[in-house]
Amino acid sequence: MNILAVGAHPDDVEFNCGGTLAKYAAQGHKVFIATSTNGNIGSAHHTMEEIARIRKAEAARSAAIIGAEYICLDYDDEMFFEESRKTRLEFINLVRYCKADVIFTHSLHDYNPDHMLTAKIISDIAVMIPIAHLKTEAPPYDVVPSIWHFEPVHGMGFVPTDYVDITDFYETKKKMLACMESQGQWMADNYAQMGGDTEMFFDGIRITSEYRGMQAGCKYAEAFARAMDGYRTRMTERVLP
Ligand SMILES: [Zn+2]
Repeated sequence: MNILAVGAHPDDVEFNCGGTLAKYAAQGHKVFIATSTNGNIGSAHHTMEEIARIRKAEAARSAAIIGAEYICLDYDDEMFFEESRKTRLEFINLVRYCKADVIFTHSLHDYNPDHMLTAKIISDIAVMIPIAHLKTEAPPYDVVPSIWHFEPVHGMGFVPTDYVDITDFYETKKKMLACMESQGQWMADNYAQMGGDTEMFFDGIRITSEYRGMQAGCKYAEAFARAMDGYRTRMTERVLP
């Protein structure tokens, strides 16, 4: 299978489905990690251009750990609010380029507008992938990818339908997240009043993974909600192992 994980910001995908992607990559599936934005507000110390460059390099390093390809659509961080013909075709082109059978993306109900729009566009365009009249650089292919939503950070308000046991890939997930060096400083600069620092970042991952693991009957798990689309479910019966 070709698997595409799309987050709004560099680190979203690693945080919420890094273990699952590491597991699938180890099973021989082809994995792509994409972000809608380049994370260019993620520093109080660098210029927007500098931090975008740094965060894209961090995301590419993280993807390389599992042999995945990283793709950035380069929208501005926290300013990704415009759904247009251009955005829709760019996302269709992304999915076609990856020839994705399965897509992981944010929940449609999340605290961050960039996350929600990313999830909405992916949900909207999945059925358009095979349509020849929708012209993009990458050609159409005859699959409607199935979509699984990953949980918002720390799982607020999220009801999973599926779990993936990531016990054997938990350390890989941590290594992927450790590539996001710039974001420890970002947490300390902006969220110190909430106790935000690198330790909080990794505590969040451990607690969420253990909590989902407890529900799934293993040590560490990641949780997903399958997009409830009857058409898509009939078209592609691809399930999480
Ligand atoms: Zn994010």
